[in-house]
Amino acid sequence: MSFVSNSEERKKKWMTFMETNRMFFGSGNDENENEMNENKSCLIVVDVQNDFLSPTGALSVPNSEEIIEDVNALVDVFSERNELVIFTQDWHCPEHSSFASAEKNKKPFDEVVKCYKKNEGGEVKVVQTLWPDHCVQGTKGAEFHERIRVPTSAKVIRKGFRKRVDSYSAFLENDKETETGLSEFIRGVNKGLELSSLTSSSKSDDNAAKSPKITHCVIVGVAFDYCVRFTAEDAFELFDRVVVLEDVTRAVNLGDSVKEARKAMEQKGVHVVKISDGDNNI
Ligand SMILES: [Zn+2]
Repeated sequence: MSFVSNSEERKKKWMTFMETNRMFFGSGNDENENEMNENKSCLIVVDVQNDFLSPTGALSVPNSEEIIEDVNALVDVFSERNELVIFTQDWHCPEHSSFASAEKNKKPFDEVVKCYKKNEGGEVKVVQTLWPDHCVQGTKGAEFHERIRVPTSAKVIRKGFRKRVDSYSAFLENDKETETGLSEFIRGVNKGLELSSLTSSSKSDDNAAKSPKITHCVIVGVAFDYCVRFTAEDAFELFDRVVVLEDVTRAVNLGDSVKEARKAMEQKGVHVVKISDGDNNI
């Protein structure tokens, strides 16, 4: 796919790309294609906030401003297809445990091992990278970037607000146990889709058994090697297909973090898609 400057053209390109690759993006909301209609998709836009996206942001992800127009185009496409759009928002309290400033004698990007007690007993040990203070609740840095369009219909899920534990994933905090609430929300949406299909008079008895459901998940945003990665890995609990559009992400790139993220996602079965110029097929 060639990258274009005009926003309408950009939208059309993504629309065509998704229609050409329905296996990865679901079938949209086309009422004329009943046999495919049970496969709906959702878009998760990860952490497109000032502290990550602006060159002056506290934890600026290199070149991340470049993804803004494609994020907007994809949000428009999913909204027009009447499909769910979710934005995550990193939302830390001051002195959050993921901040280097909260630890003695540590500096940003050092690593520490955190130990979390599990509800059923025992504990889980997790390597935590320590970050510069970022996305503090109520600050400019925590706001969505001003050029990002967040439709009123979008679901915003705030994560990382519990002081003791960080949350890279949109679904589970880093203790791998505490839910953010997004899984429950999506189960609720699926239940609503099922109920509306049961009460819909246009459904014939033949396909009433196949109720529509969100089966596909498309993920974009920052950072590829942290919050995008862990969101994609956890997404398999809920969806049959998980796609990361790599061109619409950017990475922090610490050590081997990009390589490790790609390997972990691919082992889980996440489709990490990079679109070459002129190629409209995955
Ligand atoms: Zn954070």
